[in-house]
Amino acid sequence: MTLRDQGMAIALPGDVSRIINTLTDAGYEAYAVGGCVRDSLLGRAPADWDITTSALPRDVKRLFRRTVDTGIQHGTVTVMFKMKGYEVTTYRIDGHYSDGRHPDSVTFAASLEEDLKRRDFTINAMAYNSAVGLVDIFGGKDDLEAGIVRAVGVAEERFNEDALRIMRAFRFAAQLGFAIDDETRKAASKLAENLQMVSAERIRIELTKLAVSPHPELIGEMYRAGITKYFLPEMDEAMECAQNNIHHCFTVGEHILEAMKSFEKPAGLTDREFEYIRLALLLHDLGKSRCKTTGDDGVDHFHGHAKISEAMSREIMKRLKFDNETIKTVSALVLYHDARPEPAPAYVRRAMNKMGTDIFRLFLCVQKADIMGQSDYKREEKLSYLEELGRVYEQVVETGDPITVAELAINGSDLMEMGVRPGPLMGEILKKLLDLVLEDPSCNTKQALKEKVRELNLTEE
Ligand code: ATP
Ligand code: MG
Repeated sequence: MTLRDQGMAIALPGDVSRIINTLTDAGYEAYAVGGCVRDSLLGRAPADWDITTSALPRDVKRLFRRTVDTGIQHGTVTVMFKMKGYEVTTYRIDGHYSDGRHPDSVTFAASLEEDLKRRDFTINAMAYNSAVGLVDIFGGKDDLEAGIVRAVGVAEERFNEDALRIMRAFRFAAQLGFAIDDETRKAASKLAENLQMVSAERIRIELTKLAVSPHPELIGEMYRAGITKYFLPEMDEAMECAQNNIHHCFTVGEHILEAMKSFEKPAGLTDREFEYIRLALLLHDLGKSRCKTTGDDGVDHFHGHAKISEAMSREIMKRLKFDNETIKTVSALVLYHDARPEPAPAYVRRAMNKMGTDIFRLFLCVQKADIMGQSDYKREEKLSYLEELGRVYEQVVETGDPITVAELAINGSDLMEMGVRPGPLMGEILKKLLDLVLEDPSCNTKQALKEKVRELNLTEE
């Protein structure tokens, strides 16, 4: 094996150095490996640090005080320092992934070289420690510099072992802004149908990473390479659905990708919220191909597409095993993406009540991105409407206007004191009062609301 010390120093975090030193002092080999080496060479902060070692799991467990058997059957032990965990994995060779989920067998390997060989892409197959320097057997550093995602070894063989790597190739290209090597791309295209054997959870993780990446439009490349049809066939329908309509200049699919791309994470949005928005954009128009009609004038219409897209979104996210919170939030955003409340407080309060305040805030982002993916026709008007809507929303939030029944100045026990028995009528009364308060927040006082109840003769007495 060629150890190529590039004279390149990577600043390993203290914990990582400690783990590597403990292992090497005990006579084993140990390196930081994979994504953390790639990201360090790119000057990016790695999300986590993985360590590969010649030590067997039981030796790792012996050498560290706190360990967790996270994936012991695959040779992985998590070493805990304070609240942080580091995955330490024994050099290994993976067998075939016939369930598309786990390798059928894992054999511990004798050398770092064998361990690096089982990894997916050259840029992910480098190891580093401070004594040896960078170990780069497959030209990962050159590929990093050239911006290329290239399979380690023969691409077809690697995708045959584990088809998820097909999605990972596009995911890394999208995250890093890299090109995919020709042979790797051809193999991905040829073996795409094997993705059907890969578990929904693994596909979901890669699809989500792609969706939030700087280049979500690579989903379009996956379509053209015949890959999307094996995990998101609805996207193929969208890519093939023309929109002869003045508001549009792309097919539904291209519009989706443009909208996603146009939406970069603004300050003030959490990672999770950004994910909701990018996913909602991916799904928001998938129903269009199912409700397209063409008028006598040749103009295409998509009546009711938001509702159809919502139903499809739920089905797709269930199929891909998204969590319930994501399904709920994203499908609400899909349902409301075309809402156009008047930019006046009472209308905005009602819309906030209907959607939920948090959804409303995200909805503003979704609609903006949607507009950015449309033709220029009336773009300025559309954007200034949305800005106005945003201003009114901010104002409503700032004023603290009540939006939900819980914020009413009156509650169930007040009504009971007035002689209303708990039950459906009470719910109806509260809803009526909320309607009044949404229209005019100044009437949200106990006295005024009690008067309303009497005035409208809402009690049972
Ligand atoms: P991220 O920044 O998304 O975590 P990563 O490169 O760390 O990127 P992981 O999925 O965490 O990706 O995997 C860690 C390493 O394990 C990879 O860098 C790669 O070397 C290897 N690896 C992960 N999944 C596979 C796979 N399906 N086939 C081959 N090697 C893989
Ligand atoms: Mg990782």
